[in-house]
Amino acid sequence: MELDGKIPSGPLAEKWDRHRFELKLVNPANKRKYDIIVVGTGLAGASASATLAELGYNVKAFCIQDSPRRAHSIAAQGGINAAKNYANDGDSIWRLFYDTVKGGDFRAREANVYRLAQVSTAIIDHCVAQGIPFARDYGGLLANRSFGGAQVSRTFYARGQTGQQLLLGAYSALMRQVGAGKAEMFPRREMLDLVLVGGKARGIVVRNLITGEIERHSGHAVALCTGGYGNVYFLSTNAMASNVTACYRAYKRGAFFSNPCFTQIHPTCIPVHGTYQSKLTLMSESLRNDGRVWVPKNPGDKRRPQDIPESERDYYLEAKYPSFGNLVPRDVASRNAKEQCDMGKGVGETGLAVYLDFADAIKRDGRNVIEQKYGNLFQMYEKITGENPYETPMMIYPAVHYTMGGLWVDYNLMSTIPGLFVLGEANFSDHGANRLGASALMQGLADGYFVLPYTIGGYLAAESFPEASIDHPAFRETTREVQARVEQLLSINGKRTVDDFHRELGHIMWEYCGMARNNDGLDKAKGLIRSLCSEFWENVKVPGVEADLNQSLERAGRVADFLEFGELMIIDALARQESCGCHFNEDYQTEENEAKRDDENFCHVASWEYGGDDKEPALHKEPLDFQNVELTQRSYK
Ligand SMILES: Cc1cc2nc3c(=O)[nH]c(=O)nc-3n(C[C@H](O)[C@H](O)[C@H](O)COP(=O)(O)OP(=O)(O)OC[C@H]3O[C@@H](n4cnc5c(N)ncnc54)[C@H](O)[C@@H]3O)c2cc1C
Repeated sequence: MELDGKIPSGPLAEKWDRHRFELKLVNPANKRKYDIIVVGTGLAGASASATLAELGYNVKAFCIQDSPRRAHSIAAQGGINAAKNYANDGDSIWRLFYDTVKGGDFRAREANVYRLAQVSTAIIDHCVAQGIPFARDYGGLLANRSFGGAQVSRTFYARGQTGQQLLLGAYSALMRQVGAGKAEMFPRREMLDLVLVGGKARGIVVRNLITGEIERHSGHAVALCTGGYGNVYFLSTNAMASNVTACYRAYKRGAFFSNPCFTQIHPTCIPVHGTYQSKLTLMSESLRNDGRVWVPKNPGDKRRPQDIPESERDYYLEAKYPSFGNLVPRDVASRNAKEQCDMGKGVGETGLAVYLDFADAIKRDGRNVIEQKYGNLFQMYEKITGENPYETPMMIYPAVHYTMGGLWVDYNLMSTIPGLFVLGEANFSDHGANRLGASALMQGLADGYFVLPYTIGGYLAAESFPEASIDHPAFRETTREVQARVEQLLSINGKRTVDDFHRELGHIMWEYCGMARNNDGLDKAKGLIRSLCSEFWENVKVPGVEADLNQSLERAGRVADFLEFGELMIIDALARQESCGCHFNEDYQTEENEAKRDDENFCHVASWEYGGDDKEPALHKEPLDFQNVELTQRSYK
């Protein structure tokens, strides 16, 4: 199958305007005839639901949590990018576009990224109008700070709680529509399958997580906004409920999955400190504006940081990358931290940590200033580690954080299944092989507030929709399959807990498909995951019953999907015989140990089509055509 990204013709800067003009419209009176299902109410889903309802469509919004306010988006700390150039430091739409394409190691679509940069400015205006309390400078203008991979300050922030504030804005807009009767909320529902009628996405099957009831919901289109799958690694900075289930089940129904092996490992997280830990905590990238990363020059130096003189410290990022210093992109910073620890220069009890030191910033700007900027992050660090980062450097280490892979979408955000749209972290996104900090919130809100509301109209206006109520045989059959799977999980009655399987899967993924990969390791991981998956279906123990609140059952379904999906990640990593961004295959590196791309053979989006149980998936390649930027070896020196 030829993957058509449906990139509009014409000059880059005019594509989106032209496309919006050319898209068919649904007239206001007709919009109320369409029902749209939105799965997920994080930033992407809440913004899409609110905007679609405001336009006049009937929206049904679903989420796992008891309220949209608890979506994983609430955890976002550092900020959201926009090319406003308020700092007057040389930013522009073009620069944000270029930084993002380069940051992603030239593995994203030019046209999508340019649109993202264009729309970024409108997002900020929209959010300010909603009342988001962005930080301001002394003159009252919105303040900006810097994030990795950029030499300008373009990140808007609300202390270290930007995601929370943005989500409250999108949530309020959504609840206004619930009040107006245009949107209906279905909390505590988990989508377990997609229903296709006549080859089009026409509904979903969900489990009511309180009663256990399996419900069917129909609509004219479905938008998946279900977030990222970083929890396949068991330990990650993601919320505990983040999962791959909705996307994976859609993949099994025919939606292609793109670049699944592109996982972002964030350089600044609180290191793992125990075997029974189930969650890792991020220390926002914004901290690298003022914090300096260092390790002792001599391997094995166990002195306290205060006792190590300047001359015996290695500020390795500043030394190696003088132009970007501590603000190199995440993939680069993470790999360098690993390299230092591999050389025996890591600090702390495990030797798997580096310092992030604020002593110079406090001396220069005063403790008050640092507290104003990062107070809540410092407090969080102290609560978790028991150490005061105003007095002693933080200890940090890379951890799984974000997934650039996701369901394939065209320029209209539509997957390979007609009528199935995918937004936010769930799609394969605009970030290529590495996402720059503060770009996920930008993309999620761009998709929800400003892209889908136009493109879905183009789809609805151009299609005809035969009746497809929840009594249609396709709904009955899909419901039967979902029910059978739930019953199977409960009937195994084996000896190992769901978490036990999940933890083992996470170890395999981290070891062989983590910060660095190689072909032997990936081959080995494929075999290990296959046998773990077989064992799961014979030996997992899921206590409790179906018709009740049953968190073990919920987790079992998600882990079952993670197990199959983990294998797809490995297959993808093996197929991409190059290094790019976060995908670092040790066999492909420059003399300076940077990722070495192979543009001749791998300048494409790798998209996988489900082949059936026990069959290998089929690879489809969407070539990436760069007409406006030159493909170069990424350099942050
Ligand atoms: C600690 C942390 C800090 C971050 N900080 C930043 C930052 O400062 N700036 C930035 O740009 N990015 C940041 N990110 C990344 C960013 O927060 C996420 O990429 C983004 O919020 C994802 O939004 P989303 O709407 O796509 O998905 P999510 O917010 O993950 O929402 C997913 C939604 O889908 C629902 N869902 C999932 N599966 C199902 C299912 N099967 N059935 C029904 N509902 C389902 C969930 O209930 C939820 O409502 C951070 C990430 C982390 C982990």
